Amino acid sequence: MKKFIFLLVILVSINLLGGGLTIVDSNMSFEEATKGTKAPKELLDSIVLLDVVYYSTDNKKHQGQILVHKTVEEDVKYFFQMALEEKFPIKQVIPIVSYAWDDDASMSANNSSAFNYRFIAGTTRLSNHSFGKAIDINPYFNPVIYKDPPKTSPKGAKYKPGNPGVFTADSRIVKEMKKRGWRWGGDWTSLKDYHHFDKP
Ligand SMILES: [Zn+2]
Repeated sequence: MKKFIFLLVILVSINLLGGGLTIVDSNMSFEEATKGTKAPKELLDSIVLLDVVYYSTDNKKHQGQILVHKTVEEDVKYFFQMALEEKFPIKQVIPIVSYAWDDDASMSANNSSAFNYRFIAGTTRLSNHSFGKAIDINPYFNPVIYKDPPKTSPKGAKYKPGNPGVFTADSRIVKEMKKRGWRWGGDWTSLKDYHHFDKP
């Protein structure tokens, strides 16, 4: 019994100490994070892998990684700095290679990401994500809502303004990003892409 209590005290202590630590969601090398992309080499030379820290939905600090074009590096750092300051929860930020470059799979996992050499959904035009100049944040909390035919992506997601981790036109982050020349998909009229920011 004494042994058991001793063990229990140790375990609780470790847990308390661990409360201040950052949980690592992603810790890849650049090579690992870009493995299998179809992007040409000249483009990849302009892409950088950033370590970012955020509060996840468990209210704990996490460290993830995001691939962006070097021209938007400072803006993206500023984005995560704002999110950290106001404890805007971001579920996880893991390079999309972990989802075999499948945007739907990444969105369903509520995963935030940026660079992905791919077409815009349903077209043969390269997305701004192809150049690392677009970021998608909490796609399950901030889904795409198509009008015609009506459809929400990722499947089963619902847009609930006012909930933690959800963007609206009044969000400080949205306003600040727009001041820096970014577009927010929530402003679009043909469809709403609430998780999407880009700076073409
Ligand atoms: Zn996007």
